[in-house]
Amino acid sequence: MRPEDARSLGFGAWDFDLETRQMYWSETTRKLFGVAADQPVTLDSFLSLLSEGDRAPVETAIEHARLQGSGFDMSFKVSDGATAGEQWIRVLAGIVPDGAGEPRYLRGIALDINQEKQLEEALRTRERHLRSILDTVPDAMIVIDGQGSIQFFSTAAERLFGFTEQEAIGMNVRELMPEPDRSRHDSYLARYHASRERHIIGIGRIVTGRRRDGTTFPMHLSIGEMQSGGQPYFTGFAHDLTEHQQTQARLRELQSELVHVSRLTAMGEMASALAHELNQPLAAISNYMKGSRRLLAGSDDPNTAKIENAMDRAAEQAIRAGQIIRRLRDFVSRGESEKRVESLSKLIEEAGALGLAGAREQNVQLRFNLNPEADLVLVDRVQIQQVLVNLFRNALEAMAQSSRRELIASNRKVGDDLIEIAVSDTGTGFHEDVMPNLFKTFFTTKDTGMGVGLSISRSIIEAHGGRMWAENNDAGGATFRFTLPAAPDEG
Ligand code: ADP
Repeated sequence: MRPEDARSLGFGAWDFDLETRQMYWSETTRKLFGVAADQPVTLDSFLSLLSEGDRAPVETAIEHARLQGSGFDMSFKVSDGATAGEQWIRVLAGIVPDGAGEPRYLRGIALDINQEKQLEEALRTRERHLRSILDTVPDAMIVIDGQGSIQFFSTAAERLFGFTEQEAIGMNVRELMPEPDRSRHDSYLARYHASRERHIIGIGRIVTGRRRDGTTFPMHLSIGEMQSGGQPYFTGFAHDLTEHQQTQARLRELQSELVHVSRLTAMGEMASALAHELNQPLAAISNYMKGSRRLLAGSDDPNTAKIENAMDRAAEQAIRAGQIIRRLRDFVSRGESEKRVESLSKLIEEAGALGLAGAREQNVQLRFNLNPEADLVLVDRVQIQQVLVNLFRNALEAMAQSSRRELIASNRKVGDDLIEIAVSDTGTGFHEDVMPNLFKTFFTTKDTGMGVGLSISRSIIEAHGGRMWAENNDAGGATFRFTLPAAPDEG
């Protein structure tokens, strides 16, 4: 009896006589393999239809079936001119014994599994896409099941927590937390399963993570929930906040450094201005004293001696006042400046963060138009930042009433050893009478201004061997320019 074709079921039949090596294929089987109805089939012609890598395993499986009396289940891809494109076929085989119970026929079915293969391939492609997305998202992603056992651990998670994916899969997620969460996490999960009350799911918050080496770090964690096969799974996205907090701390540090130095420089500037201003009246006082004393010399007033003594004392005090001021000036201006090679873009960026806080809210557009070729300068970082912060703040104030608010910082090389920095705004620019006084100590046009900012800035720039000046720009605003020594080339 020949096995009947079961075309209606979508599979073909075949039969192979292990003794005579004769092969029979039903109509559907022939169609699947792309073999014409009148073409004879033999084991060799069958094998020739398979790809090279599949041939030896089929021969082994047949041999194995003959010796063991067992069947097999194999899938192949055949590509034949007769079949359009590629055809995936699954072949199932079982042994039929002869009268004596010895394995005689290998008999089975062949099924078209193209659809399954396509689905599998589509799934694999999606899996690969998902994987590549997850490998590149900067946030760590972790999936856990309802018991807290880690099911998925992204590349960023490996970097963040220091565990490899293999180590992490199956591990309880509490290992990624410090105490007290570590011992409590199981009960958090249990509570959620019982009450469905959300504490962190869908909300997200800042928590502390724990690395493999036991060190901890701040992170923002958001969690989503999904159901798959009736089981709950939780997906966590963790964003490392270490850098954010370090930046904040660094800005605070810079700010306090700057405030300190600003105060000192402002004191120095005031002292020197005071000294300058007071010198003349003090010199006048001492001259008047000397004159009066000479006039007294001819007098016969009985108090002459006492008056003379008092005048000498007064003259001494005037001289002393002058000395005190001079000493104060020396004291504050002695602050050593530390010159190092610094990156201009970094200085400007940091000064921007310090001086332009709130600028975005005021709708100010900032543009750092920086040329990396003119980046390295030899300066005292804090002092130059003080200059920049001062310029930025002045610019913001000048633009308070402007409809267009744009602030641009740019740099360029001038000559071999100087770099020029320009800070331009779209504010009011300068009145004619302002220009000549701009850099003078105590010159201000503001009600609450001190008028020391620009004079300090110019002193700082000149102490660096540079120059500082200002001009009106095309946008109607002010442009301040200053030069700084370029750092000598390393090479
Ligand atoms: P203060 O800001 O305390 O007045 P400064 O020395 O920093 O002291 O500035 C002196 C003066 O220079 C300011 O009062 C203002 O008139 C003028 N000025 C400074 N920067 C600008 C600017 N970007 N645009 C227009 N005027 C400015």
